[in-house]
Amino acid sequence: MAHTFQRTHDAHPMRCIIAGVAVSATAIVYGLAGASTAEADPRYPVKTPTSIGYGGAVSSVDPEASKIGLEVLKRGGNATDAAVATAAALGVTEPYSAGLGGGGYFVHYDAATGDVTTIDGRETAPMAMPEDAFINPATGDPYKFTPELVTSGVSVGVPGTPATWETALEEWGTYSLREALHPAAKLASRGFIVDETFRQQTLDNKERFEAYTTTPDLFLPGGDAPEVGSVFKNQALAKTYRMLGRQGMDAFYEGPIADQIADLVRNPPKSPTTELPVPAGFMQASDLANYEAIVQDPTHVEYRGFDVYGMAPSSSGGSTVGESLNILEQFDVAAMDDGAALHHYLEASALAFADRGAYLGDAAFVDVPLEDLLSDEFAAERACAIDPDTAAQKPVAAGDVTDYDGECSGTAQPGSVDEDTENISTTNLTVTDKWGNVVEYTLTIEQTGGSGMLVPGRGFLLNNELTDFSTVYDAEDPNRIQPGKRPRSSMAPTIVLQDGQPFLALGSPGGSTIIATVSQIIFNHVDRGMSLPEAIAAPRASQRNTAGVTAEPEFISQYGDALAPFGHRMVASGDQFTSAAQIGAATAIGFGPDGTLTAVSEPVRRGGGSALVVDPVRP
Ligand code: GLU
Repeated sequence: MAHTFQRTHDAHPMRCIIAGVAVSATAIVYGLAGASTAEADPRYPVKTPTSIGYGGAVSSVDPEASKIGLEVLKRGGNATDAAVATAAALGVTEPYSAGLGGGGYFVHYDAATGDVTTIDGRETAPMAMPEDAFINPATGDPYKFTPELVTSGVSVGVPGTPATWETALEEWGTYSLREALHPAAKLASRGFIVDETFRQQTLDNKERFEAYTTTPDLFLPGGDAPEVGSVFKNQALAKTYRMLGRQGMDAFYEGPIADQIADLVRNPPKSPTTELPVPAGFMQASDLANYEAIVQDPTHVEYRGFDVYGMAPSSSGGSTVGESLNILEQFDVAAMDDGAALHHYLEASALAFADRGAYLGDAAFVDVPLEDLLSDEFAAERACAIDPDTAAQKPVAAGDVTDYDGECSGTAQPGSVDEDTENISTTNLTVTDKWGNVVEYTLTIEQTGGSGMLVPGRGFLLNNELTDFSTVYDAEDPNRIQPGKRPRSSMAPTIVLQDGQPFLALGSPGGSTIIATVSQIIFNHVDRGMSLPEAIAAPRASQRNTAGVTAEPEFISQYGDALAPFGHRMVASGDQFTSAAQIGAATAIGFGPDGTLTAVSEPVRRGGGSALVVDPVRP
């Protein structure tokens, strides 16, 4: 059952520890340890890819954000309080990946009840959005995806992140919105030290940011990206957080901010010198006033004795991870050698992606056969399509959810391709508290830098999430543009239980590769005997029903020979803005039977993440 959450003003009484919650500049741990960017500069916060201990944990891509979440836990906040505080901090330090102007999906495990519940905080299309919104009227052809369509008002969806934070706190939190936003406001005000990743992401977006008269003021001061080692402050964002903390999220969705966002979308402040078209969108203030985050049930599959809970539509994450695992479960992959096990993993993924393309869209608009897609009988029939010795010709056709009996009906049939872009924008965080509650949260503004459009005086960028709709309208396509609809996502925040208790929580950015990253980490950990840190560090490959397997170079060098006899064609991964040959940037927490927490982030990808526990086990 789904219910929508009516936004209300913050109902929690103010706590008197607000000032104490703040993490001052000097309270942040600075030091020499850490991946790439910290290097020799002692002012960078320490990055800790893995921590083991007790009493609660936070894992995110950013050391300042993780530290803020940990402080909340130490001061008695619960997992939801810490998750919102961490997410708000990521809005400061990762403004090109996530923030108030975006959306995301929040999965919560309640230790007291054993329930897993989710919040769909996906951006929505404005009510006036026409089905041909992505077609250039001057040419009659679709706008070029990047940089044209992504740099626009037309790709901006009504943000869902503010409503997600407020909803999460109302449902499960103990902090007021003001308390949860306070540390991030302080961080925005005192600033963070620019590292190479931030500078490079800014430079990668220079042309897009310069397409507007406004965005360069904040992100390209003096015409250049902030220097590595300089302090980047965002006073406008600090002010916005403080204002929203005082007034509640109605102050975002109604009134001057909503008017400002709608006006920017309809009339982007296009620079007279840009060569980009910057097409305008269709958002009205009423679209913001009507936005609702949706509290809904998760997807669920059983996988080798574990219960895997994920995100139901509007995301395809839960169903596609679930179907891949269900198909894989038909095989004894643990008994196979690397080549055969990975061949089955890749083929299962391709079949699940074919079904994703055929059936997945916003369930408020299209009839998504979720029960069929996640049934073991359907998976058994899909598994028959896998030839144990040879990779199927891609793309493979979708299965028929109206007619299946678990019996084999031949090998995979050819289908049509359903390509998605990949990038490593977006961000993910994992939190657990001393009571055993768990939050897995993926949030985004879509591309690195979103639409590139800053909300002047407010300090955050607007998303380009509507580019996740199919560009060209087809009445049969479940992901076609429709007014008020949420574009299909791949975000896959996932919580895995064993006998009703948390076993693993994980998620990642990476566009449609998110699904493969989450599935592959579970596969590595459950089937291939890797520890959780090993399962995350291991090289990744993703087969999304495309001719080639998108794979990290390390995956190709490590497993290319073993996979060659099966006929898989490997394509080295690359990101269109950063050229990083990396898939995803996962965070996770593993739960040991004795209460030990293993908090894990990336050791290398995206410069390494930061995973912290409240009471570390000293080596
Ligand atoms: N827009 C993507 C999605 O919802 C997430 C962006 C990314 O991770 O690249 O699937």
